[in-house]
Order: sequence, then C-alpha cells, then structure tokens
Amino acid sequence: MAARVGIPSSLFYYVHFPMWQTFFSELGIEVVVSGQTTKNLLDAGVKEALADACVPVKLFFGHVISLKDKVDYLFVPRMVCLNRKTIYCPKFLGLPDMIRHGLSGLPPLIDVQMDNREGFAAQWKAYLQIGSIFGLGRLKILRAYIKATGSARRFKSLLLEGLSPPEAMDVLFKGGSASPAVKKRSGLVFAVLGYPYEVHDPFISVGLVNKLQKMGITVITMENLSPGKLSRANILEKKMFWTFSDIALNAAYHLFKAGTVDGIIHLTAFGCGPDSMVDKLMEISSKDYPETPFMSVTIDEHTGDAGISTRLEAFVDMVKRKKEARERLCQR
Ligand code: SF4
Repeated sequence: MAARVGIPSSLFYYVHFPMWQTFFSELGIEVVVSGQTTKNLLDAGVKEALADACVPVKLFFGHVISLKDKVDYLFVPRMVCLNRKTIYCPKFLGLPDMIRHGLSGLPPLIDVQMDNREGFAAQWKAYLQIGSIFGLGRLKILRAYIKATGSARRFKSLLLEGLSPPEAMDVLFKGGSASPAVKKRSGLVFAVLGYPYEVHDPFISVGLVNKLQKMGITVITMENLSPGKLSRANILEKKMFWTFSDIALNAAYHLFKAGTVDGIIHLTAFGCGPDSMVDKLMEISSKDYPETPFMSVTIDEHTGDAGISTRLEAFVDMVKRKKEARERLCQR
C-alpha cells in the first residue's frame, strides 16, 4: 500500500500545494489533505496552540489534529527562504517544533528545511531529502521534482491570469478549464491584500472575498500581481524583512500609485507581529492617495459574520458614492 502523507490545508498550502501534490504523486505517495476549515477544526487548534499565537497558526494546529490519525507522515517543512532575499515570518521557521512539542500522538514529521540561501541547488537537495525518506532512487526523485516545478509554474501563471489559489488548484487537479474562471473586470474593483492563508480561507476570513463578489465587486489579490511590478513598487529604503509582508506591502504601494483599483482592504490577523508594521505602513501610504479608499479588517478566532458584513457594506457604499461624485465632477 502506498504511504500516505498528510498536508494541512493551511499556511503554505495556498502557495505550494500544487508543487507538493505533484511531487508526492509522481513518487507514488498518496497525499491526504485536511480540507476546508470548519468551526470544530478551529476550536481544536485554539485549544492546543499557545494562547498568544496568531489565528493562522492556531488554525494550522487544528488542521494537523484533523489529519494526524489518517496518515503515515505529516508534511510540515521548515520554510525559511525561497527567494534568497526575504525570509518567512519566525512562526514559519519554528512551525515543525511548535507542532512536535505542542501535540501528542503525531506520525513522523517530514520537516525538511527549505532555505534557498544555502546555494543554487538548495531546493533540489531539500526535495531529494524528502524522496530519500521513502527509500526512493535519485532518478525517480529528480523526475518527480521536474514535474513538480512545472506544476508550480503553471499554478503561478494561472494566478497571474486572475484566478485565486483555490480556483487555480481546481484547474490543475480537477480538470477545470482556465478560461471560464478568469475574472473579467467590470464595475468596482477592490484589492483584498493580506496573507494567502487568511484571504483565501473562507472560514477564517469570514467569507470576505465572497461577500464582496456578491455585492458585484471584482476582487483581485496580491497573487494576481506580477512579481516584477511588486518589486519595483517598494518605496522603503530596505525590503520588508518577511516574505509575505513584503509582497502585501508592495502590492499596496503598487496599487495606490497605479490607481487601478477603487478600494483596498487589508485583511490582518490579530496577534500578527509583522502586520503591526505592514498595516501601519499601508495606512500611512493611503494618506497620499485619498482617491483610493483604504480600510483594514482584523480577524481573530472570535470574528463574527455580522460585524464584517456591516463594515464591508459601509465601505462599498462610501466607495460607490465617492466614485459617482468624481464622475459627476468630470462631466461638468
Ligand atoms: S505573518 Fe503574522 S499571521 Fe502569518 S504566521 Fe506570522 S505572525 Fe502569523
């Protein structure tokens, strides 16, 4: 029987799952995911994780708990740096340790370190190490790795076409077609900026993206913007230290300057250290671009649907009025 590897549908899932799924399947290993976040799953994570951890980490605990008795291994790599410029938030660096010491009854953890600053072939070496855990040959692992990198490239190009990570995964793994899902811009366009594991998890984000779409708003996220545009947008003397924070902040700088969206919403997690800086920097920048309204929404494990809906409705209403007033002024 094929070994079963569990991948929690949280944190890096929204960024690297296509690569990981392809890699393991090509090696003949069954991938089991924890699936959509539910209240029970979040409650289980909140109970076991450190009280002062951010909600995405608590949620990750919940996803691990739901998987741990169904698989032979749990895949919790130590993600340090993939772009050789910025590193991931310290919570990611310590994730395998937090899980190992915070939960009991776990299957073996695959906690290979991924740090591309270690040299040109660092990423390949990390995947070679993963394949070797299963006693597989170098050639087989190399073939799986090449296929996996192809899958990661295809995933990124679907995101740049305007799909969200879950939509792009559907196209890649459920045989969906890319073209019908590609979003057409019409009416108001909002950017929802924030970490992928918050923005694209409909439970923890209280369905924020979906609520906006139901109000007729076209939503773009930071994954839909090209890395070239984002790195040119930085106005700080130094890059933001943490990878996802750097992307989110540059996305805001780019969109404020380009003026291509009607509003920007920053989704931020209560208890997130990096966000205390990112959110403030976005807010400061927003003052230079009053024509692009900005709002930040903080979520935690207690966030309620009604509160978010009311704030969104008020924000959308204000943006609409502002846009109409501007259009009337232009017609005079
Ligand atoms: S960046 Fe913030 S939300 Fe994400 S894991 Fe780190 S502390 Fe948590």
